[in-house]
Amino acid sequence: MSVTRIPVTTLASGGELSIWLHEYAGTGSGPTLGLCAAIHGDEAVSVEILWRFAERLRGMKFAGRILILPVANPLALEGRSRHSPLDMQNMNRVFPGDAAGWVTEQLADAVTRNFLEKIDVLVDLHAGGYYPTVDYVYITNAEDLSRAFGSPLLYRPQPGKAGTIFGGTSTGVTRGRNVPSVTVELGGGDVEQSSYVERGLKGIENIMHALGMLDGPPAPRPRQTVVHEIATVRPSHGGLLVPMAPPLGQSIAGGAELGRVVSPYTLETVEVIKNPVAKGIMILSHLTVDVVQPGDYGYMVGNLEDAEIEA
Ligand SMILES: [Zn+2]
Repeated sequence: MSVTRIPVTTLASGGELSIWLHEYAGTGSGPTLGLCAAIHGDEAVSVEILWRFAERLRGMKFAGRILILPVANPLALEGRSRHSPLDMQNMNRVFPGDAAGWVTEQLADAVTRNFLEKIDVLVDLHAGGYYPTVDYVYITNAEDLSRAFGSPLLYRPQPGKAGTIFGGTSTGVTRGRNVPSVTVELGGGDVEQSSYVERGLKGIENIMHALGMLDGPPAPRPRQTVVHEIATVRPSHGGLLVPMAPPLGQSIAGGAELGRVVSPYTLETVEVIKNPVAKGIMILSHLTVDVVQPGDYGYMVGNLEDAEIEA
């Protein structure tokens, strides 16, 4: 096992901005599995999953090699923010990065050269941020691995349909190299995270089984639903968001209430947020009362009408 600090640049504070890579060599030949977290800095549960996974790896007999980047964007982690506070950039829109660009682009460039270009498989862990909680996995170029992670809900982006597929992502770099890539969205929000952490640990092990890095098949997975379309529903007013939605993974009828925005000043309801999807399934939600800004991530609802649903 080795830990490498890769210097990126010097900050105005005098501090050195670096990324840290942890490498674990297995006993037999096999692929190099790359695991990363905190491309967005408000997704601490993903870092926790990798910290606990690194502890497990010490007693694990596996084939191949594992490269862990626990924090892809230290600036955003420090700021506990989705974007880097120094330049307001969203790192997952600027890949492959630019060594002569914004500091976030410099970081992305370092991540591309030292991590994304050195791996044979990528699992990129994301979460819902400090307020929303989320639960789904993308299917892009490695359906077997995405399914092996074991989440009940998956998303297969479709050209021309509403969803959450963007340019400038980490997996855009790896997919461009035909590297099997899995983006996981798991946990987050102002709720107990241990069940999400446990699922994250199991999910990574399941992917290692699917890759032959661990003996035996992956654990049996739950019945899975794959949606092709996701509606992101954002509050148009700021205030206290009071959740009304069913739990994640449950269906919701069109027009049903997702939540209400209450003014903390007048104490009146200023907005009732309704589900725009005729036959929906909850993917991202606020599980406790918290404060939202206009345009924040409020809810994500999958469309069950053209979803792939296992019997
Ligand atoms: Zn994220």
